[in-house]
Amino acid sequence: MLDLMKKSPPILKEVAKDIYLISIPIPVMEQINCYLFRGEKGFTLIDTGLYTSEGMAIWEDLISSGIKIEKVVLTHFHIDHIGFARWFQEKQQVPVFISSHGYEEMKKRRKGDYSDWAIELFQEHDGLQLFKTAIEEQIAIEEQMMYAYEFEPDGLFDENQYILLGNEIYETIWTPGHSADHFCFYNHERQLMVIGDHIVEHFSPLILLESSTDLNPLMSYYDSLEKMKDYSINLALPGHGNLFENVNKRIEDIQSGHHYRMKQILESLKDEEKTAGQMTQEIYKNASNIAFGPIMSTIIRCIYLESIGKLQSECINGKRLYKKVDGASAK
Ligand SMILES: [Zn+2]
Repeated sequence: MLDLMKKSPPILKEVAKDIYLISIPIPVMEQINCYLFRGEKGFTLIDTGLYTSEGMAIWEDLISSGIKIEKVVLTHFHIDHIGFARWFQEKQQVPVFISSHGYEEMKKRRKGDYSDWAIELFQEHDGLQLFKTAIEEQIAIEEQMMYAYEFEPDGLFDENQYILLGNEIYETIWTPGHSADHFCFYNHERQLMVIGDHIVEHFSPLILLESSTDLNPLMSYYDSLEKMKDYSINLALPGHGNLFENVNKRIEDIQSGHHYRMKQILESLKDEEKTAGQMTQEIYKNASNIAFGPIMSTIIRCIYLESIGKLQSECINGKRLYKKVDGASAK
């Protein structure tokens, strides 16, 4: 278990009527937002934080203060969200609910072969030597994964269903992209969206290839952003950072960020074929400091650009080379 610096005890902050935010410190991303929805039988907890001793102290404090948690509902399977789910189930007898997509992802991770798969991916895209730290980070968290995914959820949900968070009914919306299993939850009366890591206010969520069944995550992500336009949202409750109101503006900014990077890819391929690793070095000047994000983002953008006919690729001696399709514009 990771041992983090002790901080002050948990403070529940009411962010909307009967909805409380609890911020759990985690490495790298600094914090994750967990939400408590008050209900007659206790609180519904959305997401749980990374499994650390510091996180455990926060949850133990909270429970010993008399707060009763009725159930845990997860937005997606990433370890900063699912980390304590097993602990809540085993140690606190709190039932845990995840989507059936999330359950599938959990089962894949239990095999412990994620690092092998990631190494192959980075090798093919020529990122392994340059971005070795990315692999090391992955191996370091594999231990966390082995703990986090070794339990059976108490219930599963699918898209377009309704679930109770506290006393109120939320629609389940499948929003793959950041992860293949990502879900948002929407309350029609209050126009509240539990938006998880689908859209956050202060950075563009990483869009991830995480297994051989993820084919075109950026395409899925764009479709999932479009889904948000069917909902009028007063307040978005994200998995990290500040709550926000103007979801459409955030969507535009995130889309234009990807667009800008894809323009750079097309420009970089003007005269020659390149690997995603080479383009990452060119596009992100100090990429070695922020290893994982840039290479992953370049890979998912290349896959997207190939799927819409702007790039072609070929695997030569185990390395995937991209080239621009004649006439493909950077628009
Ligand atoms: Zn997260």
